[in-house]
Amino acid sequence: MVLHGVKANKDDGRTPAERFLQRLRSRKEHLLKALRWKRSREMGLSHKDVTAMIPRYLSDDLSDRELIAFLKHINSCRECYEELETMFMVDRTIHYLDDGQDGSFDLTPELIRDMERKLHRVRVNRMLVKFRVSAALSAVFLFSMAVLDFFGIFPISRFL
Ligand SMILES: [Zn+2]
Repeated sequence: MVLHGVKANKDDGRTPAERFLQRLRSRKEHLLKALRWKRSREMGLSHKDVTAMIPRYLSDDLSDRELIAFLKHINSCRECYEELETMFMVDRTIHYLDDGQDGSFDLTPELIRDMERKLHRVRVNRMLVKFRVSAALSAVFLFSMAVLDFFGIFPISRFL
């Protein structure tokens, strides 16, 4: 295996220094890519990510986490907000035409409402998750208290 590798490397006509540089370069690229990924995770989405997500926002296809990151970026980025506004108008215009409604509508407030509605839904979802977790925890707690009481280890019913 090792011999085969050495032979293959010799055959490509590069000097060891060139091979070393190549390895270094690809290592650097790898590290930069990892860094960019990490940064995008920490600081939210890039303009490109957000633009690519707009169709999925409009068809309501983003996960809660994606939606939060998306709206966070949109709120602080004029450029992407305008892009979203344009796409939103195009999308809604098509829907309005399909539904046979007249074109007398103001879309900007509607976009704001749409964003608020979606954000609200995410908040409700998160609250439900928290509620479910605390309900599950209380159930576990009550159950263990009941078990302890039943076996007389911690007879709480005596104090009630
Ligand atoms: Zn942007």
